[in-house]
Amino acid sequence: MTTILNSLPHPSDRRIALHIKPAAERALREGHPWVFDQAIRRQSHEGQPGDLAVIFDRERRFLAVGLYDPHSPIRVRVLQHRQPATIDRAWFAERLQAAADLRLPLVRQQTNGYRLAHGENDGLPGLIVDRYADTLVLKLYTAAWLPHLRDVIASLHSVQPFSHLVLRSSRSLDALLSPHGLHDGQVLAGSGLAAPVIFEENGLHFAADVLHGHKTGFFFDQRDNRAEVRARAVGRRVLDVFAYSGGFSVYAAAGGAQAVTSLDISGPALEAAAANFALNQGNANVAAAQRQSITADAFAGLKRLAVEGQTFDMVVVDPPAFAKSAAEVDRALRAYAQLTQAALQALERGGLLVTASCSSRVTADAFVSTVTRAARKAGRPLQIIKQTGHPLDHPIRFAEGAYLKCLFAHAP
Ligand code: SAH
Repeated sequence: MTTILNSLPHPSDRRIALHIKPAAERALREGHPWVFDQAIRRQSHEGQPGDLAVIFDRERRFLAVGLYDPHSPIRVRVLQHRQPATIDRAWFAERLQAAADLRLPLVRQQTNGYRLAHGENDGLPGLIVDRYADTLVLKLYTAAWLPHLRDVIASLHSVQPFSHLVLRSSRSLDALLSPHGLHDGQVLAGSGLAAPVIFEENGLHFAADVLHGHKTGFFFDQRDNRAEVRARAVGRRVLDVFAYSGGFSVYAAAGGAQAVTSLDISGPALEAAAANFALNQGNANVAAAQRQSITADAFAGLKRLAVEGQTFDMVVVDPPAFAKSAAEVDRALRAYAQLTQAALQALERGGLLVTASCSSRVTADAFVSTVTRAARKAGRPLQIIKQTGHPLDHPIRFAEGAYLKCLFAHAP
């Protein structure tokens, strides 16, 4: 590990002074963690990714200090508002410790796979740390973390001891990481990482491909919704659409579902789902459940099931984000409406529809009204029994941090 980290740049001693426009000033005062390039009025000098930027108001009073990123329209990601701070190893350790403390209730419920640090929402903007038992996965959304990685990793050692540390990064960072000998899926610490990594969630076992899988390998954000599915699955025939590695499917089986069908467009995802069923054969309910998987596009697959007259008592719909920008919101809402109608065709009358959206641009209100309207049009007016948001390890600190919503509804 030391050799890789040795090649990283060191934090600069020279802080950048920034003066910003009034609207951005107001947003910072309200605790918003971003300063966009457009909002900058004056700047002391050009900087490197990860330089500390100090932001002043019109009266030259301190507003915030953050990480400068010349490559991103989010020019500064705020580390601390209001009070000046020395940003060093001790500061990172304090933030990480606060994040770890918040998650303690999870550790007490047979769970050692969860999000340890959730970026902006835990005061560590652009940085995700996911825990998979003794393996930690650090995901970067900005190169601004590079000069601070040594300190972050040293702090992690004290806050959450680990055997392996894996680096993941958003694709846009590839070109910025490679000059430092870093790449997505790199093992930064520990030797002989047995991928996939096995961890426990609510007493069930899962394997995650932390080197190549979606996100960092698993969708921890759906933990509570999966538990809700387990609690309602007994005796039901369950269809899990967009199943990925079978999170909802395994929980449904563990809850006593009679049969579980996992549908995904990705063959490897469904193989991972089969492996996760295999990991839980010690659970009598999982062992007893009938299992089937369908490799298909969700829309086509649902249509085919309807043509074949196959129906289920519970349908889970957990698609990937449909709207990544504001311009895509209308299209996303149309897709949610279509999916709802297609899912209802596969759902027995009186069955349970579980449907989620992880598009941050789609508000909870827009999602709920789209789903309910689509159901009404299909002659199946929904009776909503539960609407959920974020789990404990995905706290929300600013409007953009809220993305997940899930509905549980009876469909007559
Ligand atoms: N429900 C999962 C997470 C779903 S992630 C869990 O709890 O872990 C989204 C999944 O949708 C991915 O596995 C991806 O392969 C799948 N997917 C994307 N587009 C699809 C499509 N058009 N039809 C079916 N599956 C699709």
